Amino acid sequence: MKQALFGKTVQELSEMAAELSLPRYAAKQIAGWLYRRQVSSIDAMTDLSAKTRELLNARYVVGLQEPEAVKKSKDGTKKYLFPVADGKYVEAAYIPDRDRATLCISSQVGCRMGCAFCMTGKQGMNGNLTSTDILNQFRSLPEQASLTNIVFMGMGEPFDNLPEVMKSLEILTADDGYAWAPKRITVSTIGILPAVKHFMENSRCHIAISLHHPVHEERKRLMPVENKYPIQQIIAQLKTYDLNRQRRISFEYVMLAGINDSLREAKEMVKLLSGLQCRINLIPFHAIPDSPFKPSGRDAIQQFDAALQQKGMIVTVRQSRGLDIDAACGMLSTTRKWHK
Ligand code: SF4
Repeated sequence: MKQALFGKTVQELSEMAAELSLPRYAAKQIAGWLYRRQVSSIDAMTDLSAKTRELLNARYVVGLQEPEAVKKSKDGTKKYLFPVADGKYVEAAYIPDRDRATLCISSQVGCRMGCAFCMTGKQGMNGNLTSTDILNQFRSLPEQASLTNIVFMGMGEPFDNLPEVMKSLEILTADDGYAWAPKRITVSTIGILPAVKHFMENSRCHIAISLHHPVHEERKRLMPVENKYPIQQIIAQLKTYDLNRQRRISFEYVMLAGINDSLREAKEMVKLLSGLQCRINLIPFHAIPDSPFKPSGRDAIQQFDAALQQKGMIVTVRQSRGLDIDAACGMLSTTRKWHK
């Protein structure tokens, strides 16, 4: 089977060029065609010699995949179904909002982290995406030109697929790639300590930590990762970095009625995060089938928000988008049937 060129870093393209005995500058030329000029065939790379294109065509394809289906929400959000390797699929959400347009990208097919309140988690793990499949959700999105932000908050735990996610970030931000500013990209994680360290030291993109409960014993019940990497350790690690104004740390907090939405948890959260420059995003929960969890009421969310703000924390209550097409936070999954 032919390999995909799309999704390779310049370093990988250089190794490929050396293997094929192509001139050294060919790697940069190919990267330019793939990421700046966005061609979809090797034959369109017209400043490569006919011989080079023949060599490439014998072993490689560009490797793009159009979305197979789309669902449109009445609020303008769109959910796309992208085919990936081995006949599997992932979902990606396009979320326009006034002068912003955000793409919520998936990094795995399903997820093995088992967070109790998450639809993707219920699906279980069905494989890691390659950088080709991760970036294809961006490249083959019909609205790509209008995007202002990318968030790795779709299906999967990005730090459970660290090498491919890091490659994707490199291509998105490198001058030889899409040259996006790192501050337009946010990677969300539940907090896998070694990967958090690696990311903080090797990327300048924003990081969002899924907190969901500030108390160790209770967070363990919601998020099994707490057993191995307690949130206290993650926060202690984050405090060791000298943050510049270009980089943002935020905490995601899904509001679950009677579980994590009382003033006690607000107080615990203030204690936990004190001394760390960060923002908090409160996320309304969206009921998923067969789930014992219920969404917090509007009053509970307002009180929680006010209690945090009183203590000087920067808090945003996230708007629910794409609810009618199951594209809102925590709802992406490819176990449901898609009707084209
Ligand atoms: S919340 Fe994130 S890490 Fe947890 S199961 Fe869902 S996709 Fe995986």
